[in-house]
Amino acid sequence: MNNKPCTITNSTDPIASYEAAINERPDNVAPNSSKRPKRSVGSHTKYWEPGRTLKIALYDEDQETIERVKTAASKWLPYINLKFNFVSGEEGDIRIYINYAGDGGGKSAVGTDALIISPAYPTMTVDAAPETPRFEFIVLHEFGHALGLDHEHQHPDASIPWDLPKTYALHQQQFGWSRELVDLNVLPLPRVTDKTYGSYDCHSVMHYEISSECTIGGWEQNENWELSAKDIEAIRKAYP
Ligand SMILES: [Zn+2]
Repeated sequence: MNNKPCTITNSTDPIASYEAAINERPDNVAPNSSKRPKRSVGSHTKYWEPGRTLKIALYDEDQETIERVKTAASKWLPYINLKFNFVSGEEGDIRIYINYAGDGGGKSAVGTDALIISPAYPTMTVDAAPETPRFEFIVLHEFGHALGLDHEHQHPDASIPWDLPKTYALHQQQFGWSRELVDLNVLPLPRVTDKTYGSYDCHSVMHYEISSECTIGGWEQNENWELSAKDIEAIRKAYP
């Protein structure tokens, strides 16, 4: 494991997350599920309303950096019914902090969870200097989260043969991660009711690089720096 992995900015308020999602787009909750009053508030998608323009703020970055972010993020655009408006300053639906040191790990709110983050804070951290080779990939990956995608290695059907004791130990040693952080960002997530899943895709841009040190039998996966066919299929479905 080399680079500090990306983490999802989890909403600490599941009710606010649920309300932000259905106010933005009612079908973030499947129509029949409202009949189940005890449904879990966490079991919804967080997609933006199709047709919308997302305002993307880059604080005081220079034009060249804004262009680099734009180029990378725009790789999603041919497949979604959304527009991006990149601006400098602090006001935006998505607010991007670039950590030039590249030592803190990427971070993003998932989709409409960005709406419940205080306007004083970024909703996304791109953890690389703009001139480094990984920068474009990191922007593409973090924008996947900003559009509502989870980590693909956490797909409920992900067939990664984790060596759990080693996975916990290595993340602790190398990144100072608690078991809880590993559970939240690395290991498979439970299946969510109001979400349709494609099949697990180890070539997804939303998949971590997985080291064979963390698996049984030498299983490993490199970083995927481009959108996979299934990434495209999934995001098309999310934004018709
Ligand atoms: Zn990520």
